[in-house]
Amino acid sequence: MEVVKAGEQVLRQGTRELSREEILSEDIQGLIEDMKVAMRGAPGVGLAAPQVGIPLALAVIEDRAEYHGRLTNQQLAERSRLPIPFHVVINPKIIASGEASVEFFEGCLSVPGYAAIVPRKLAVTVEFLNQHAEAVRIEATGWYARILQHEIDHLRGVLYTDHMHVRTFSTLENMERLWRDLPAASVKSKLS
Ligand code: ZN
Repeated sequence: MEVVKAGEQVLRQGTRELSREEILSEDIQGLIEDMKVAMRGAPGVGLAAPQVGIPLALAVIEDRAEYHGRLTNQQLAERSRLPIPFHVVINPKIIASGEASVEFFEGCLSVPGYAAIVPRKLAVTVEFLNQHAEAVRIEATGWYARILQHEIDHLRGVLYTDHMHVRTFSTLENMERLWRDLPAASVKSKLS
């Protein structure tokens, strides 16, 4: 499975919701398995169906502890970043979000090699169907809330570049070399 890159219309056109019967079908269960493999292979912490060229309202998410090795304990704590087990999010809706926003660098497998500071809600409540077509409600905070907002954006044709602080757009290499250890406010002021 290849990940579609920015500039392809499928990333911009929005998605169709799935019925419970479709979710339980062999086709969709197979798609979920293929997307899990593609996400782990990338590797990434989320992958939405439009990113593999399929305009359906489905995303897979997994944040493994082994991905956290490049961040210090303090950076993990600032991001409220904890391991998130593999799960599937289908027809998701953000039904509530807190007032507070937080700003961190964020990247996307469809915009490879780059990152930018993106403001996101610190906390969101999301309703969706899981891969067994069961209704789930999750109250997420921190990095998990950021992942959910990023993936749900993909399902409505939105990329992080639509929300980013434009002047912080950096190569991943430069972000890691120059900016990752600084608070977002200093990065914004130095690049403004
Ligand atoms: Zn993305």
